[in-house]
Parts: sequence; structure tokens; C-alpha cells
Amino acid sequence: MKNRAVYFFLLLLFIPLTVKAAVVLQYHHIDDNTAPSTSTSIGLFEDHLEYLINENYKIISLPELITKIKNNNPFKKNTVAITFDDGYESVYRNAFPLLKKYKLPFTVFIDTEAIEQNRKNHVSWQQIREMKLSGATIANHTHSHSHLVRHNESLEHWKARVINDITQAQDILKARLNQDLKILAYPYGEFDRDTLKVVSDLGYTAFGQHSGAINKNSNLQYLPRFPVSNRFGQFPQFITKLKSVPFDKVSFEPMHGILTNKSLNPPILSIKGSLESLKAIHCYGPNKELVKLKSSNKAVSFKASKSIASRRFRYNCTAEVEGKNRFRWISIPFVNIK
Ligand SMILES: [Zn+2]
Repeated sequence: MKNRAVYFFLLLLFIPLTVKAAVVLQYHHIDDNTAPSTSTSIGLFEDHLEYLINENYKIISLPELITKIKNNNPFKKNTVAITFDDGYESVYRNAFPLLKKYKLPFTVFIDTEAIEQNRKNHVSWQQIREMKLSGATIANHTHSHSHLVRHNESLEHWKARVINDITQAQDILKARLNQDLKILAYPYGEFDRDTLKVVSDLGYTAFGQHSGAINKNSNLQYLPRFPVSNRFGQFPQFITKLKSVPFDKVSFEPMHGILTNKSLNPPILSIKGSLESLKAIHCYGPNKELVKLKSSNKAVSFKASKSIASRRFRYNCTAEVEGKNRFRWISIPFVNIK
């Protein structure tokens, strides 16, 4: 009997970790000649798709992903969704033929003003309809693509502005495409607590561009995506991102931050959890590992060694899942409006 118990215990050790998480990829241009910071080369994009197909990833649409979270359904192993922001023409020209060939679902977030004005390098409504007919999801990226976070304006004015920017885009999508799908991507991935509340009250599910995996407990107005431009989408980092898992039983404070004065820069991140869970966590700022300020049995704080100049930056925290060559991953976005 005792032997059987030992055998059972050993068996448990060798049951592979089943990770019920999904990862959303974020692209902008798929082109070899567009702005480097927001472009993925055609070759790299093809390599991404080939990897996903060869490794049997389940590529699902965003509506399907959102329904799973809403219904509290776990994700199947290796679930991925593909998204493009801003509706660039290169998505239609270079990405769409491949996605159509492999019958893969994808989402294009469009800022409707750019499309209405036929802006250079953007898709037309006809191209959008063609992609939609082939199974693409077309979603809201606001009308004007302005920064949503409040700055130098009254609360009342700010709120009216944000509601108008989102609903104007939604009305245009409704009129042009006969749809009313409430899925939003924050312009520049920027949001704060007030924005989350407005978006939630309007009934939208919303995505940022902070890194991390998604599970059935994820907040619907706070969904992460992995940017996979040339800079962030190279192998083998691409695979590490695909295999990432959300943190469990550890809390981060703040979860996102708006820096309104110099004294808040660099921001301090504090993490609470059991000693065991905290030990494995490493946090990184824009360029290097963050400095550990203090730790107790249940909390640890991190901070960059000097103030950070960019308007948007992130603290990334990772912890290796023991022996699995996978990482828990979260990124905390900060917006510096000072
Ligand atoms: Zn955008």
C-alpha cells in the first residue's frame, strides 16, 4: 500500500503542467519598409505563422477568447489570438493573403477617422469588408486615436471626450459594417483607473499593449497583448512569450500608473505574496533589471535606478515556472504625462 502511495506521488511529479492560458499577439505594419518600431518584416511574420501552425497552436478569434473568459471556461493548451492595430494597408497587402491561405482568424483594430479620411498607408472600407468576409474581426480603436488618459482638462470634459471618441468609432463601424461588437484597443496601450471605469460602464472589453498571458480570471478591461514587432518578436523570445503564463496568487501595486509629477519617477512597484512565490520574481525596467528596495516575508519592492524619460514604459516581472522552461509574466504599464 505504501509503495502504491509512493508510486502515485512519483506519477504526479511527472504529469506535465497544463497551462490554461491564452496569449494575444499585437502587430502594426507587416512590411519591410515601414517605421521600424511598429513593423514586423514579412519574413518574420511568415515565420511566426509557420511556427504556430507547426507547433499545433490553437488560433482563435478575439470574440471566442472573450466568450471563454466571460463564461469562465479554461483555455485549451497553446491558445493564441492575432491582432493588428491601426488598419495599415500592409496588413491587407502582406498579412491577409497568408492568414487567408491558412484560414486563420484575426482582428484589426481601426481608428475610424484615418479610414474615413482615406489616409495614406491605411486600408479602405472595401478592403476591410473583404477581410471581414474572410472571417476577420474588425474592432474599435477609437475615432481619433488620441491619448485617452486625462491631462489638463476637467473630469467632465475628459469623460465626454473619451465617451465620444469611442462611441463615434463604434457608430461608424456600425454604419459601414453593420456590426456592434464591443471590443476596444486603447490607443498607444494607455489607460488609467478612470478610463477602465468608463470603458467598463460602456460595456466594452478592452486590450492594452502590456505583456502578459490571459486566463479565465483576467480583467476584461485590462487584457494584455504581446507586441511582436521586429524588435520584440524575434525567435527565441517569440516562443518564450507564447509559452508565458499569468501570475497566480501574487499581487502587484500599482497595476498601471500615471506619472503626474517628477517625484513619482521612477515609480516603485511593490509585490505581495508568499515568500516562496516572491523569491523567483525578477523585474526589469526599459533597459535593465530593477533595483530591489526591500523585502519582508510577504512583500518586496522594486524601482528603476534613475528616472525614465519616455512617455510610456513598462516594468516587466517574470518568474520561471520551476523546471518547465516557461515564465510567469506580467508587465505594468506607466504613462508619464509630466
Ligand atoms: Zn494604434
